[in-house]
Amino acid sequence: MSVRRRTFGIIGGGAIGWSVAYQLAKTRRRTDESIVVFDASLAGASSWAGAGILPPATRFESTDPMEQLQKLSREAMPLWSRELKQLSGIDNEFHVCGGVYVAQTSGEHASLIGLRQFWDEMGIEGLPLEADSWNQRFPWFANQIPREKCRLIFEVPGEAQLRNPRHLAALRRACEVLGVETRALTTEQAARLQLSASATGPPTLEWGASESWNCEQFVLATGSWTSALLRRWFGTTDRFADVFPIKGEMLLFDATTPLFSTIFNVGTRYIVPRLDGHILVGSTEQEAGFFAEPTEEGRSQLLEFVEQTLPDLLRFKLVKHWAGLRPASFDQMPIIGRLNQCPDLIVASGHFRSGLQWSIGTALCVAALLRHELPPLDLRVFQPSR
Ligand SMILES: Cc1cc2nc3c(=O)[nH]c(=O)nc-3n(C[C@H](O)[C@H](O)[C@H](O)COP(=O)(O)OP(=O)(O)OC[C@H]3O[C@@H](n4cnc5c(N)ncnc54)[C@H](O)[C@@H]3O)c2cc1C
Repeated sequence: MSVRRRTFGIIGGGAIGWSVAYQLAKTRRRTDESIVVFDASLAGASSWAGAGILPPATRFESTDPMEQLQKLSREAMPLWSRELKQLSGIDNEFHVCGGVYVAQTSGEHASLIGLRQFWDEMGIEGLPLEADSWNQRFPWFANQIPREKCRLIFEVPGEAQLRNPRHLAALRRACEVLGVETRALTTEQAARLQLSASATGPPTLEWGASESWNCEQFVLATGSWTSALLRRWFGTTDRFADVFPIKGEMLLFDATTPLFSTIFNVGTRYIVPRLDGHILVGSTEQEAGFFAEPTEEGRSQLLEFVEQTLPDLLRFKLVKHWAGLRPASFDQMPIIGRLNQCPDLIVASGHFRSGLQWSIGTALCVAALLRHELPPLDLRVFQPSR
């Protein structure tokens, strides 16, 4: 059995795991600090499947930890995107494209009123649109949804997006350039993965092969698979530390040239234009365990949404349909912190619908914890044992 020793081992190569690896690599404290990412590229991994919408953060000094996480992430995103492009040669297409929020039904109206109050409190610009501005500024939308058929429309100029598969590829490549190792695991190896704490030395990670890894500290960033691993390794976990998958399906159209540039939001559904004319339609929400295949029902729901909102989109070719598993937690807050049962293991999971937008903030916090430094925000509410 060959035993490999490293400083930091990151289990899971999604937006969270790679962001932690990148933050550690670009701020190495010692030349001998070594970082390895273990990933199995499991079907249903969320970060590749998401839409990459980045809502604006509060302009104020918020005391709400979720808002702080959002602000930390959003403020660092332009710099990270530039750095990643320079290091990797891959453009993640981060840009502030703005968003519109449309309410047609009374339920959508009520939730948009609530959202507006939230924007006001956070100092986020949300501009009500009447017929003139709707028709002039958003003609492609207005031709299909006349203003008089909507109860309310708001424009949020600060909404941004990134192309998440490219962001992941850029993070991974930049990490490689900065000397981060990758250990790819098969699905079978991932199923056998075992982390053992030791009273006298660092924890050991193994999967029944002829190698094992001793890292001074590990990070568990395995998205929806986190609780299954924790239960296997340490028995029952706290109820609130539980993470479970919520499946989301997405459609991709190819309009070949850009038709519009602003994200179109209705309730929890959205239409996101990429810079090259591809258009995402998302997303469904369903508890289906670890079944990550797209379904006919999901496809119909999304097509119906397009039919009822922007039916002209149906003239273009539907090029892809996929599903991903969002890592949800019981109290809808991410889990970021050391595990009582194994203090050399930090959990970073449960980001549900916001893992792309909160990934940098999470990485800054986890990197500080790993180095026994003060994290940039108070993590008590995110503790696994809460
Ligand atoms: C349809 C959809 C739309 C979304 N839209 C947005 C959006 O617009 N904005 C936003 O911020 N968020 C969005 N999200 C949510 C976001 O994608 C997630 O919150 C985020 O990607 C979670 O990242 P993660 O790294 O925790 O998990 P994942 O991306 O799932 O990564 C976990 C990784 O761990 C690996 N792994 C698991 N078990 C093992 C094991 N035993 N051994 C080795 N590796 C293992 C997996 O292979 C995977 O690569 C969306 C999600 C979906 C599904």
